[in-house]
Amino acid sequence: MEVLDNDCVDCERLVSVRKENFIKFPTYYNRPVLSDGYEKTKVLIVGLAPGLHGANATGLPFDGDFAGRFLKQCLEENGFRLQSERKSEAINYCITNAVKCFPPLNRPLQSEINNCLRHLKKEISVIQPKFLLCLGAVAHNAVMRACGEDSFTKFQHGNSFRVGQRIVFDSYHPSKRNISTKRLTPEMFRIILKKIIKEIEKVIPA
Ligand code: URA
Repeated sequence: MEVLDNDCVDCERLVSVRKENFIKFPTYYNRPVLSDGYEKTKVLIVGLAPGLHGANATGLPFDGDFAGRFLKQCLEENGFRLQSERKSEAINYCITNAVKCFPPLNRPLQSEINNCLRHLKKEISVIQPKFLLCLGAVAHNAVMRACGEDSFTKFQHGNSFRVGQRIVFDSYHPSKRNISTKRLTPEMFRIILKKIIKEIEKVIPA
């Protein structure tokens, strides 16, 4: 999404990591990674933060790494498409991260999550998604705060709940570790996607 600046300098640590990565990986994107997908969608998927050799390299969330491949294959298999293909049977979605810059060890500091909230808020206010899928607890907490939800519902895989006009769904993050330990399997993820489809069909009958 072009509405956000990709030269954000809010987080000192992440900006200096970006500078180091421009030297270490000169062909990589190495900037804040903004959302990708169809802005008029009803579905926004929120991950944690760009992977070093994935989104941070290509500039697109969940692109070019293990988590992205797992996620996009599951989404495709269940009828979700990233871009508008004008296919009436496809569900278009947008995808982003709670934190837009690559954080060392994939672990953003709380201050960095706080700083980045303004970007997520902006994305939500532009996209106006009816359905949000949070991948992991960091995404869950950021989405809750971005939606102005003070009474905190805790992250729980498989849970879904209303926040105002929106429905929020929680899934474990599709990290390599979660997939290899089978904490998250394609079948577990499919169940969540089917729940989302069921809710979408209530709004737009199939
Ligand atoms: N790639 C992303 O863009 N986000 C994640 O959370 C993991 C991998």
